[in-house]
Amino acid sequence: MPDDSCDLFVIGAGSGGVRAARMAAQRGARVVVAEAAALGGTCVNVGCIPKKLYSYAAHFADDFRDAAGFGWHLERPRFDWKVLKANRAGEIARLNGIYQNLLATAGVKIVTGWAQLLDAGTVQVQTAQEKQVFTARHILVAAGGRPSVPVFPGSEHVVTSDSMFDLDPFPQRLLVVGGGYIACEFASIFNGLGAKVVQLYRGGQVLRGFDEEVRSFIAHEVRKHGVDLRTGMDVERIDKTGGGLAVTLNDGSCLVADTVLYATGRVPNVAGLGLEAAGVSQGKHGAIVVDEGYQTSIPSVHALGDVTARLQLTPVALGEAMVLVDRLFGAGRRKMGYDFVPTAVFTHPNIGTVGYSESEARKLFGDVKIYRAEFKALKHTLSGSSERTLMKLVVEAASDRVVGLHMVGADAGEVVQGFAVAMKAGATKAVFDSTVGIHPTAAEEFVTMRETVVA
Ligand code: FAD
Ligand code: NDP
Repeated sequence: MPDDSCDLFVIGAGSGGVRAARMAAQRGARVVVAEAAALGGTCVNVGCIPKKLYSYAAHFADDFRDAAGFGWHLERPRFDWKVLKANRAGEIARLNGIYQNLLATAGVKIVTGWAQLLDAGTVQVQTAQEKQVFTARHILVAAGGRPSVPVFPGSEHVVTSDSMFDLDPFPQRLLVVGGGYIACEFASIFNGLGAKVVQLYRGGQVLRGFDEEVRSFIAHEVRKHGVDLRTGMDVERIDKTGGGLAVTLNDGSCLVADTVLYATGRVPNVAGLGLEAAGVSQGKHGAIVVDEGYQTSIPSVHALGDVTARLQLTPVALGEAMVLVDRLFGAGRRKMGYDFVPTAVFTHPNIGTVGYSESEARKLFGDVKIYRAEFKALKHTLSGSSERTLMKLVVEAASDRVVGLHMVGADAGEVVQGFAVAMKAGATKAVFDSTVGIHPTAAEEFVTMRETVVA
């Protein structure tokens, strides 16, 4: 293989790019991947993994409190932010090394630097030393996304989720702006770690798009946990003062914070990619437009993952990568199924969800039956915690098919994953009813709900 030509050139070694590069190389393709930052992309370096590690860290606050009711007596626990940061950095470095090995073992050539399309079959990479030019039969743009922050007076003082993992010092007073995944997760995490957290959301209820009852239930639970969640609120301006960041809100009130996190969405990472040079069509916020085979308007150029701004989830990027590699280097012409993609929000407590919200299902299917259970988990009968669990099933009346399954409670993501398989397979409520529960668990509620909720 001459150094400068390949079958597949991948831009971005994140979730989707690494999976595509590795799978294609394993099929015998000559693959080059360019990465401008750290191997593993958003998920490994500043997303899912460090976020979940910090969520575990935050959960200990509850665990220490809960333990007393079970007879455990602890000295007042002390949290050391520096230790958490150092241990996280060590683990992420280990994962970066694993990605490096996986790619190298599969025979993928890794180039460190910023990649840019010169035309439909040529990519230039600006490395630390030089510009390298590669020709490729296929190009995959898997460049991911980046945080988007509105511009307003004082917006230069805010940070995004990228900076939250290494803040120095620990933010004792944290203001979180936004009501999506990242805002809700970071509000719970830093609240658990001991910060005084105020979360502002501009709309009526956080987590737009989720089941309405889940949204109000989680809002109530996080407030009980200590997050000062204020809806219908936004920031007017931020001024840096000697005592911290003075934040003026849209109701004229003011609060002071050490750190202001803006978690107001992510946009495709398309600037400087040379998409225009290659003639690649783009949509809203520059998202690369692709067909169901991840082909762009230019047949040799493909794109997947967050840069296409569809479902921004790691397992979706991984799934898309495998479909693409099957199409390019295998016999397969299968399609990725985007229905019943399960997801979790790692708030405290967690949200796990798959399928349609109640209102979406009513619009789509007309007559639906709702089953609902709300209870105090067995653990909390002794822990003294007032945390409650919500479980909800949405069933299409005509077919008896379960089309929505939602949970707010401990380990909801773990619980919902298995049910997502059943729902992909088209399980009916009768199948749920005939399934034997595992006792005593919270998950068994999903197979023991018999009474419909009267609307
Ligand atoms: P990315 O993983 O973002 O990878 C893109 C890579 O391309 C990056 O490494 C970037 O440096 C590189 N790159 C970009 N342009 C160039 C260029 N021109 N040249 C060279 N390299 C380039 N998803 C979940 O499923 N579960 C979670 O719990 C979860 N938590 C998250 C928490 C946070 C805080 C964030 C921000 C995201 C989270 N996500 C989560 C979303 C998930 O991280 C993304 O959906 C996923 O990483 C997308 O993968 P990707 O391959 O499209 O892009
Ligand atoms: P989201 O799109 O989920 O949420 C953005 C939030 O910011 C919304 O509440 C939105 O309000 C609000 N917002 C947008 N613009 C403004 C503005 N100008 N001023 C004030 N508020 C604003 O984005 P995130 O950044 O939270 O996360 C990006 C994506 O990353 C997620 O959609 C998800 O796909 C992925 N992710 C997944 C996780 C997981 O799987 N657990 C965890 C973290 C991220 P409104 O609703 O009114 O538009």
